Amino acid sequence: MIGKWIVFIALAAAVLLLYKIGRGFLQRQTIKTRSGGTGNVIPIHRAGNIKGKAKSSQPCSYCRKKSNKLAFYSDEAGAVIGLCKDCRSKADRRGLMRL
Ligand SMILES: [Zn+2]
Repeated sequence: MIGKWIVFIALAAAVLLLYKIGRGFLQRQTIKTRSGGTGNVIPIHRAGNIKGKAKSSQPCSYCRKKSNKLAFYSDEAGAVIGLCKDCRSKADRRGLMRL
């Protein structure tokens, strides 16, 4: 009779152990999928880079040279113009108002 009980307890312990291991494995899997989910941040970061590129492709209103650091002025007609470093001095000489 006692031998049967030992087998039962051993089986129960084995089942419990397998259940715990299985749960731990599942938790690790969910952590893996969660960390994989953070990988979705990369495309957002890339989108930000594309936006930055779009900004840098703005041409100067005077020489049409593409510059990422355009200074904006209001010309005689009241239109907003973006000027590169080289053309800023020309605008200053013409007395244009910097925005
Ligand atoms: Zn220019």
